[in-house]
Amino acid sequence: MPTIGVLALQGDVVDHMRALEAAGARAVPVRRESELDAVEGLVIPGGESTTMSKLLQIFDLFEPVRKRLDAGLPVFGSCAGMIMLADEVLDGRADQRSFGAIPMTVRRNAFGRQVDSFETEIGIDGIEGEPFRAVFIRAPWVERVGAGVQVLARVPAGAADSGAGAGEEQGGRIVAVRAGACLATSFHPEVTPDARVHEYFVGMVRGADAGPVE
Ligand code: GLN
Repeated sequence: MPTIGVLALQGDVVDHMRALEAAGARAVPVRRESELDAVEGLVIPGGESTTMSKLLQIFDLFEPVRKRLDAGLPVFGSCAGMIMLADEVLDGRADQRSFGAIPMTVRRNAFGRQVDSFETEIGIDGIEGEPFRAVFIRAPWVERVGAGVQVLARVPAGAADSGAGAGEEQGGRIVAVRAGACLATSFHPEVTPDARVHEYFVGMVRGADAGPVE
């Protein structure tokens, strides 16, 4: 059973740990470098990317995480976690840092503010069966993907029809991507009982054989 860490500085940690366990992994919280060294995969949860960026630096975890991602550690970022994985962040704070693990441009709060959170059924490439119930909470979307980034899901037309993004077309926006060992979703699969996205990620970790740091 692979050991997968959940970055536990801030955000939606407990739900991801429960979902990882449901998907057949051993889930551990990661707050320090020694804990990071012991994992074979990492989840960066939803929350607030500006705060997460700040706490990663305060806890001296930013560089260690970046190094492990550079070395191929499988990672799954949801919502704020997706923002943390991007190499370009729009509508971010000037001092906000991200890992640049996926060549993509992500726009923060793209679907609008907290009141504009929404749920919709989406199809996700690589996930079999019924459509996935995706929960979007002050979610980002992906505006550009670079070479080697596979688009796994887009918002269906008409699913998010309010918010600051209203007036701009929201249907068709990219909300799930994969690039090598990196997976990112705009939505929060950890808040629904459906564990298929976490199972997909556990499968990536099993396949990658990255192993813990000796
Ligand atoms: N809007 C948040 C951010 O910019 C993300 C919201 C979330 O993770 N639910 O970090």
